[in-house]
Amino acid sequence: MNKTIVIVGGGPAGLEAAAALGSSPHHVLILEKEHNTGGKLKNWHHLFPNFADASEILKSLEKSLPLNNSEIKYDCDVFKMEQMDGNLLVSLKSGEKIKADAVLLATGFDLFDAYKKEEYGHGIYKNVITSSELEGMFVNNSFPDQLKDGLPKKIAMVHCVGSRDKKAGNMHCSKLCCITGVKQAIELRKYLSKSSVYNFYMDLRMYGQHFEELYQEAQEDYGVNFIRGRVSEIAEISDGKLQVKAEDTLSGRPMKMIFDLVVLLIGMTPATSAASIAQSLALPKSGSGFLAPVHQHISANETCIPGLFLAGTCREPLSLQESITDARAAALKIIEWLKLKDNH
Ligand SMILES: Cc1cc2nc3c(=O)[nH]c(=O)nc-3n(C[C@H](O)[C@H](O)[C@H](O)COP(=O)(O)OP(=O)(O)OC[C@H]3O[C@@H](n4cnc5c(N)ncnc54)[C@H](O)[C@@H]3O)c2cc1C
Ligand code: SF4
Repeated sequence: MNKTIVIVGGGPAGLEAAAALGSSPHHVLILEKEHNTGGKLKNWHHLFPNFADASEILKSLEKSLPLNNSEIKYDCDVFKMEQMDGNLLVSLKSGEKIKADAVLLATGFDLFDAYKKEEYGHGIYKNVITSSELEGMFVNNSFPDQLKDGLPKKIAMVHCVGSRDKKAGNMHCSKLCCITGVKQAIELRKYLSKSSVYNFYMDLRMYGQHFEELYQEAQEDYGVNFIRGRVSEIAEISDGKLQVKAEDTLSGRPMKMIFDLVVLLIGMTPATSAASIAQSLALPKSGSGFLAPVHQHISANETCIPGLFLAGTCREPLSLQESITDARAAALKIIEWLKLKDNH
């Protein structure tokens, strides 16, 4: 018998899961809280590690939907769920309730709120921006005039903002900000050819395929400087110039440098939009607050709630490629689960 599968979130993971479920006989309903699909991907310009155009990737994810058996509903903010007679009852903020045989949570992640790191001056100094805001400048070609004037500029990229930081409440590594910092440093050198770029890092975590090569390329072909140092404070001195104080952790010496622009590489944090859903089902969370699967190693897409599955960055920081692969794996698990349900 055909069943109803609800996918919460129409970001890359939700879209890919819906496409993978397209060949099943079941009715697939994507509930997206925004006016459009795409999640964070719609805000990015060119993607690491190969500078693929994010809008083209998004088009190809969206192009296969909706299929005959699938439907996308926008402005549908899911906030609660309950178990009911072997099914799940999904509640929207609008008051609507939808009965589902299986639910896939693909609610994604939030960006770390850089205002919480007061010592870095985001929201106080106009030339302190986040990596996400820099992506927006590339997308809209909206760089501040003082950066476009053709004069040499000095730009700092600060790694680990809001990640690996006990004070900020996030002990986890966001995995992707090191490679984002490398990619954006190259883009800045291409865009502002007279600029010099300095990346301040604690460790460089180039875990993915072609990440290490891009890091080498940044140094050898684009002259990006990497300084092993933790930034303690950023302060405006005059004319929008920023003084960055750091400790060079290789030499053990404090250092001060002046920059025209500082980019904070903000980390990924658990999505607040998933918190009330998790609470309503007493769904466990991992140490860093992301939604926890039933077993990290062998059942990463399943939860302790029958019929409830996870895909993408709602369960941990993942790259786009990883989120997409994860969504396909979750779709297979859902089909298996519905077969079992039918046989009982
Ligand atoms: C600064 C930055 C740059 C990045 N650049 C790259 C890159 O170059 N290459 C790369 O491979 N990866 C990159 N990534 C990672 C990439 O953005 C993620 O892998 C991808 O967005 C994860 O997709 P997702 O569907 O899991 O989550 P998201 O993109 O967060 O999508 C989640 C969706 O769920 C919806 N939603 C959430 N809660 C609800 C709810 N309660 N009800 C209904 N809908 C809901 C949201 O509105 C959203 O549409 C970058 C990440 C960051 C932080
Ligand atoms: S990926 Fe790099 S910048 Fe991001 S938290 Fe991990 S070590 Fe820090």
